[in-house]
Amino acid sequence: MAVCYLGIGSNLGNKRLKIRAALKRIEELKDTKVLKVSKLIKTKPVGGPCGQPDYLNACLKIDTRLTPHTLLKKLQDIEIKLGRSRKHVRFGPRTIDLDILFYGNSVVNTRKLTIPHPRVFERQFVLKPLREIL
Ligand code: ADP
Ligand code: MG
Repeated sequence: MAVCYLGIGSNLGNKRLKIRAALKRIEELKDTKVLKVSKLIKTKPVGGPCGQPDYLNACLKIDTRLTPHTLLKKLQDIEIKLGRSRKHVRFGPRTIDLDILFYGNSVVNTRKLTIPHPRVFERQFVLKPLREIL
């Protein structure tokens, strides 16, 4: 089992509802247990096209037997099921964004996956909810 930290963000549609729905699906993942969930925080978008709506962000702590790549695949399936288009603009608006921030103390560097997530340390919207559940 590995303790992981995930980031959830949404800035389109009913954000609170999308985050709840994502959380529910993560709870339903096999071999995975949700240990802690942070409060939701409202944040201004960083980068991407201007004029996009505010974000709602949260972090969660999970315990999982899924490998990093399987976990990523499962999270991407959830993003798609919750209506996220894969053809979106980088850093642009999204109904739901699920990121793996940390996976135990593993370091992963593949084409598809970088762990720790490269933008964890520079983003208040990640650091603030993360601090709450560490
Ligand atoms: P971002 O979350 O950086 O705003 P996206 O959600 O559009 O951007 O992610 C684009 C790609 O980032 C995904 O297709 C995925 O393969 C890759 N990626 C690399 N590292 C990670 C990670 N730690 N967690 C989630 N996705 C990651
Ligand atoms: Mg992402």
